[in-house]
Amino acid sequence: MPAQDLINTWFGRIDGGGEEHLATPADLVAWCRAHGSAVEDADVTGPQLALAHTVREGVRAWLAPHNDAVRPEDARALERLAAVIPELTLQVAVTEPPGLAPVAQGVRGALATVLAGPVLVGPKVWARLKVCRDPRCRTAFHDYSRNGSGVWCSMAACGAVNKQEAFVRRRRAQTQARKRSSAAEIWSGPPAQEDRT
Ligand SMILES: [Zn+2]
Repeated sequence: MPAQDLINTWFGRIDGGGEEHLATPADLVAWCRAHGSAVEDADVTGPQLALAHTVREGVRAWLAPHNDAVRPEDARALERLAAVIPELTLQVAVTEPPGLAPVAQGVRGALATVLAGPVLVGPKVWARLKVCRDPRCRTAFHDYSRNGSGVWCSMAACGAVNKQEAFVRRRRAQTQARKRSSAAEIWSGPPAQEDRT
C-alpha cells in the first residue's frame, strides 16, 4: 500500500536515530515515479517535500492507535495532516471496482493517492496496518498474525530487543525487592542475599 511505503521512507533505529529516505526533492521525485505518478524534476521543491513529510507523519500518527504506539507529538502530526488534506483532493473514478483518483497531478496527486488507500482497502485491512510499538522504530507493517495481535515490525528485531529489555527490567525490580526485604530483615539475623545481577 502506498501509505505504508511512504511511512517507511523514514524508520527509526533501536540504537538511536533513524534513516531518512525522503531527504531531498530528488528523493521525492524518485518516490513519486516509483508509485506511478509522472513528476517533472523542476516541479518538486522544498515546500512539496515538506508537504510529503506532513502527510507521512500524519498517516503514521493515524495508524499508531492500532498498536498502542501513540506518542505525544502524534496529535500535532494529525492536526498538520488535517490542515493539508484540502490540497489533496480525490474524485470518484468510474472503474471496476470503483476507485478514487487524485484531482491534481504531480506530488499532490501522488500524496492524494496515499490518502485514498485507507478508504479503498476497507476497515479490516486498515486495522491490520500498524506502526511498530517500539517508539524508537515506528516502522509501518502489515500484521499477518492469525488473531491480529502483532505489535512489532519484526520479532527478530524489535520483538527480540523489547523482550530482552523487559527481562532486564524484571530482573532489576526483583533484585531491588530482594535488597529491600533483606534490609528489613537484617535485625533478625538472616544474611542479605548476595546480588548476583
Ligand atoms: Zn520495529
